[in-house]
Amino acid sequence: MATNLLGLDAQGMERLFADLGEKPFRARQVLKWIHRRGAADFSAMTDIAKGLRGKLSQAAAIEPPTVVGDSVTADGTRKWLLKVDGANAVEAVFIPETGRGTLCVSSQAGCTLDCAFCATGKQGFNRNLTSAEILGQLWLANRALGFHAGGARAVSNVVFMGMGEPMLNLDNVIPALRLMIDDNGYGLSRRRVTVSTSGVVPGMDRLAEECPVAVAVSLHAASDSLRDDLVPINRKYPIRQLIAACNRYLEHAPRDFITFEYVMLDGVNDADAHARGLVGIAKQVRCKFNLIPFNPFPRSGFKRSSDERIRRFAQILQRAGLTVTTRKTRGDEIAAACGQLAGDVADRTRRSKTVPLTEVRA
Ligand code: SAH
Ligand code: SF4
Repeated sequence: MATNLLGLDAQGMERLFADLGEKPFRARQVLKWIHRRGAADFSAMTDIAKGLRGKLSQAAAIEPPTVVGDSVTADGTRKWLLKVDGANAVEAVFIPETGRGTLCVSSQAGCTLDCAFCATGKQGFNRNLTSAEILGQLWLANRALGFHAGGARAVSNVVFMGMGEPMLNLDNVIPALRLMIDDNGYGLSRRRVTVSTSGVVPGMDRLAEECPVAVAVSLHAASDSLRDDLVPINRKYPIRQLIAACNRYLEHAPRDFITFEYVMLDGVNDADAHARGLVGIAKQVRCKFNLIPFNPFPRSGFKRSSDERIRRFAQILQRAGLTVTTRKTRGDEIAAACGQLAGDVADRTRRSKTVPLTEVRA
């Protein structure tokens, strides 16, 4: 099978070129063609000798996921539904803001972790995405939004907050991250690429060693008893271990901080006492908080906290000297808010079976 070049980082590309009897600088040239200029086929690569282009088209391909849905809301939030094989589709969302544009990408089709309030978790787990399928989301977004030669790109930030748990797919996530921060790739600074995790401690340690980009941790509760219910992986890696992992991570990412995500669930984790619990946690690790109004979906069993409750909750954190942002609810009408990228919620009895594409809402 032809190697899909979209998933090869600089090292992988150089290895392929060595196998073809070619020099490393050729590999870098091709990287630039694909990722800096968005080339979709080898014939566009005019400064590469015809012979090599021929060799490449034999051995390799540039194959992004297939766009099967593309919608935009009034605020400019754009969502793509991407078919990755006959049975699976994932979503990527672009969120434009003043001065920056954030692309939210998926790392798995489905998720094994089954957080109580998450539509992806309810869908069950289908498979890991390949590095080409992960990076392909950024490549497609750049092509759709325009590669601005020499100028700023539309996508200035990438967050792994779509479908899946990136820390359980690091073999494929890490090459994609490396391309995102490579100057011959997308040239994003390491702080503008954020991997969000529900708290997979060994994954955090590995990422710290191999590619210490920014990390966001889905905390959602300040006590183990509540977090055990909301984020079941907490039973394996409880809060104390999670915080220790955050601190180890920060040793590899000096001057950084951990972003704690906190989904606001009405009557569940949004009381003043919960906010005070977070203040206690913040004393143990350099962090900021991002409050996420819950995105409801059918049969979730949860409600979004009121705006007033969220404001009051944020105020408690702020008065304790913490940095807090509250996520704007964007793209609600196309279910495009990060964390709700799962289309229709499949019945639980279908867990671990594949979800047919026709059941994934565009
Ligand atoms: N698996 C990773 C990354 C994907 S989820 C993780 O859990 O961190 C990205 C974020 O969306 C997480 O903070 C997750 O808890 C949150 N999320 C999931 N479902 C949500 C919902 N229905 N409403 C709001 N946020 C949600
Ligand atoms: Fe998986 Fe993240 Fe959803 Fe939890 S919140 S089920 S870890 S995608």
